[in-house]
Amino acid sequence: MSTTQPYEHMLQPLDLGYTQLRSRVIMGSMHTGLEEAHEGLEKMAEFFAARAKGGVGLIITGGFGTSARGVLGPGSAAVLTEQDADKHKIVTQRVHQEGGLIALQMLNAGRQAYHPQAIGASDIKSPIYPFPPHPLSTQEVDDEIEGFVNTAALAQYAGYDGVEVMGSEGYLINQFLATRANNRDDQWGGDYESRMRFPLEIVRRIRARVGPKFIISYRLSMLDLVPDGSTWDEVVALAKGVEAAGASIISTGIGWHEARIPTIATSVPRGAFSWVTGKLKKEVSIPVCSSNRINTPEVAEQIIAEGEADLVSMARPMLADPEFVNKARQGLRKQINICIGCNQACLDHTFMGRRSSCLVNPQACHETELVYTPTQHSKKIAVIGAGPAGLSFAVVAAERGHSVSLFDAGDKIGGQFNIAKQVPGKEEFQETLNYYQAQLDKFNIDVHLNTQVSAETLLNQHYDEIILATGITPRALDIPGIDHAKVLSYIDVILHKKPVGKKVAIIGAGGIGFDIAEYLAHGKINASLDKMAFMKEWGIDTTLQARGGISGIEPVIEPSTREISLLQRKTSKVGAGLGKTTGWIHRANLAKKGVHMINGVEYKGVDEQGLHIVLNDEARCLDVDNIIICAGQEPQRALLAELQDAGASVHLVGGADKAMELDAKRAIDQAARLAAEI
Ligand code: FAD
Ligand code: NAP
Ligand code: SF4
Repeated sequence: MSTTQPYEHMLQPLDLGYTQLRSRVIMGSMHTGLEEAHEGLEKMAEFFAARAKGGVGLIITGGFGTSARGVLGPGSAAVLTEQDADKHKIVTQRVHQEGGLIALQMLNAGRQAYHPQAIGASDIKSPIYPFPPHPLSTQEVDDEIEGFVNTAALAQYAGYDGVEVMGSEGYLINQFLATRANNRDDQWGGDYESRMRFPLEIVRRIRARVGPKFIISYRLSMLDLVPDGSTWDEVVALAKGVEAAGASIISTGIGWHEARIPTIATSVPRGAFSWVTGKLKKEVSIPVCSSNRINTPEVAEQIIAEGEADLVSMARPMLADPEFVNKARQGLRKQINICIGCNQACLDHTFMGRRSSCLVNPQACHETELVYTPTQHSKKIAVIGAGPAGLSFAVVAAERGHSVSLFDAGDKIGGQFNIAKQVPGKEEFQETLNYYQAQLDKFNIDVHLNTQVSAETLLNQHYDEIILATGITPRALDIPGIDHAKVLSYIDVILHKKPVGKKVAIIGAGGIGFDIAEYLAHGKINASLDKMAFMKEWGIDTTLQARGGISGIEPVIEPSTREISLLQRKTSKVGAGLGKTTGWIHRANLAKKGVHMINGVEYKGVDEQGLHIVLNDEARCLDVDNIIICAGQEPQRALLAELQDAGASVHLVGGADKAMELDAKRAIDQAARLAAEI
């Protein structure tokens, strides 16, 4: 092995005897919605082929059902018959053409199913899923085991190189293991040995059916993060049992879906849970795979080099950049588009029943639909604004062969991302700016910073196309006293670092209001950058003495030194409009820090006393030092009329086009789509 190869541990192959993984990077399982989409398997074939081409060692598909009642929801994908398996051949063939390996993930949702036929080890309902499960009879337990075996055999028939048994995240297998969901008194319940019989029987019978030369990865819940979860001794016993039953790889699962601890959001430190995998690795002799918030080659390399795992699972990073592994191998680290852990286009979409994509890479899961083909007619294009929309447009247009000049009034690229990245827990946003900088360099884009562009200058340069990506201006409010010195905007606070007092009212509880509250409530400890601080803040026992990793452990919170009120006019729950999979984390964080979240507020005015409001028909004055306005935004398109009047070909993207409900996902996606066509 070369000593000069960076990431040498991550990039070395793994020999399983009968097959070899090209690198130590596993593309982890993600339900993308392609499983059920029209012509979804054809699209999935190209989606996975791109990742196989990109150097991933082993791809794991999204979860496919192993029985009619075990599927996630009505119409969810399953592999139950030879006809089902035949349709998968295109996926395995395309991955193999690109030199990759692929395993089918097999999933039985149990009580985590969104349909009334949900099944369970017992009739104990999940706190977050709506349907009480039908408790399986002894014969039905056997049928569900055979379901796994049947699907594994069909996967082998379809050309898969292996299967992954989904044994974590609170799905059926997990439900058998924990008394939280299993109070049976037959051979599948009672003491741990009996509760663990279900997964061991699944693995044993699969191995017997598929023979020795087929990968069986077992996703093992190493830390349940729920009350009445498994103890560490039980986890170890299970891992040893799974190994003895014939598994080839043990992969890390962290937290049931119903756990109230974040496990993959951007506020979770990178590689936060690799220490758990490291402890298990010492107990078994088959390869173990770490997961959760591993998003850069440095983090992956460190985990493997330090002996915490043999493999690393990266799921969302493979949405962000299919060429992740190859770029790392070729010394092109700066060219890697890093997953920022936002969940906005992947997991949030899954939970909304939409096809996944990626905020930083709109081509993800749309490989056959959003294609950047070289242009036959190179145009001279000006892009005004180097925020996410302008950057996205400039890079795709230049990649296609257009001649692009990019202008920004600011002294750096990034627009509002330069504000967002300063919010504790959003540090990853800098990675996107680093990536775009590398792309601007790669495509020799002509960048002009500190340049406030006027319509006249643009017209004098005779561009073929002008792209206005000029973003937004914060909404101005019409409240008496709004010009008072106490009143600040979110830009004043984060960007201009204007001093903020100890008592604060925030007007507007959208994404930015929450971020400002987080910014102001934060103390010295940044738990999103410090693994042990994160564990303390969420009450996770790093000694692994506590059942489920949490029982009896009190979170250690650093309360806010400011008194903060976060206000909105709507009477709905404060923060109801935040991200599907991350909103609860923001709300929980602020609640723990003592931030008051108040809805149904009417703003009356600002004066020396503070902010005058009406709440529940009662006039009140919030005695605050500062009032910070986070009340939404309006499009910034001052140049538009003059350019249009002069007959220029002008296009609006991002906030300049529509500020309402704008986020970076829409800005980047819209701009990339325009650039793909122009
Ligand atoms: P902008 O980012 O506003 O960029 C516009 C650029 O145009 C600016 O750099 C400006 O200097 C330049 N410009 C304007 N006029 C001119 C001119 N005449 N000449 C030259 N340059 C000009 N979004 C998410 O998706 N997820 C999040 O978690 C998230 N968190 C956020 C947190 C905060 C605190 C903030 C403030 C925003 C957050 N956002 C988030 C929103 C996201 O940053 C915006 O949606 C996104 O930046 C909009 O991109 P844009 O390119 O349209 O505009
Ligand atoms: P926003 O989410 O639309 O929130 C604006 C807030 O201001 C609302 O709470 C609204 O609540 C209030 N408001 C609107 N008009 C008002 C008025 N005239 N007077 C007083 N209050 C008013 O906008 P944002 O917070 O500025 O965020 C901008 C975008 O950035 C968002 O759309 C979001 O997608 C994105 N972002 C996302 C995240 C994330 O974590 N995903 C984080 C930050 C930003 P009431 O009308 O009820 O008062
Ligand atoms: Fe990562 Fe966000 Fe893309 Fe999901 S949408 S893959 S979390 S960058």
